[in-house]
Amino acid sequence: MTARLSGKVGFVTGASRGIGEAIARRFAEEGARVVLAARDRAACERHAEELRSSGAEVMAASCDVTDRGSIALAIATAVSRWGRLDVLVNNAGLGGPTPLDDPDDARWDAIVATNLTAVFRVTREASPFLPEGGRVINLSSVLGRFGVPGFSAYCASKHGVIGLTRALALELAPRKITVNAICPGWVETEMAREGFRRIAGEEKGRELAGRMAPLGRVLDPGEIAGLAAYLASDDAPSMTGQAIVIDGGQVMP
Ligand code: NAP
Repeated sequence: MTARLSGKVGFVTGASRGIGEAIARRFAEEGARVVLAARDRAACERHAEELRSSGAEVMAASCDVTDRGSIALAIATAVSRWGRLDVLVNNAGLGGPTPLDDPDDARWDAIVATNLTAVFRVTREASPFLPEGGRVINLSSVLGRFGVPGFSAYCASKHGVIGLTRALALELAPRKITVNAICPGWVETEMAREGFRRIAGEEKGRELAGRMAPLGRVLDPGEIAGLAAYLASDDAPSMTGQAIVIDGGQVMP
């Protein structure tokens, strides 16, 4: 693996498992110093220990992205260690249905707070520490590109992430900071497994989910990490304001 991200500092939210963990690992493998942030600090610390044992410079930070104080503390901890943040990955996310016949607002509020409002708040907190040439990478979804019945909060939040990405790309362009969204289809993680179980039980659900895309398979988190590493690298200084679909061909804009 080349050290494409050597010298860069990455901050990845939702790095305790799934896509965020894969991105943090890839960044470390490509030479970046990485902060793994999530509520489950112990899981982040386990990944960090493993990465350190292969020579990477990484740290774990406790961070609840729905809590302004927690965001501020995690960013401050990272900055006090490494002085700046070159690449911010807003990956933390919450899935699940919000059907119209559910009278409780709690699920809607939690999904929008985690998937959309937090992307703004974490970026605002990190912004003073993003240098010229910095990168912001936001996890949207193919559900930011089309609707799914019963998943209004998730779809609205992921469509919102694309709008937020475009506005932030313009706001940060004078500082030569790029802002992009990644829109994955089904990716094999705990969030997706919950979805598979909801569709038809885990195994059958995975098979049906894979068949939703022409290439016919559920993606590996490492594929998303590869795209994130590209966006973070010096190979991508001019890509900004984009919502990049990586889904096996289901969405062709
Ligand atoms: P996952 O396996 O459920 O992991 C979600 C991550 O988000 C965990 O690390 C979790 O950590 C973190 N998180 C949730 N709430 C948080 C909070 N309040 N504060 C801090 N961290 C929080 O999900 P995933 O599939 O890896 O999803 C990652 C991102 O990709 C999400 O934005 C998701 O919407 C998006 N995505 C996933 C798929 C897919 O098929 N898997 C497809 C399209 C888009 P803690 O619980 O430790 O805090």
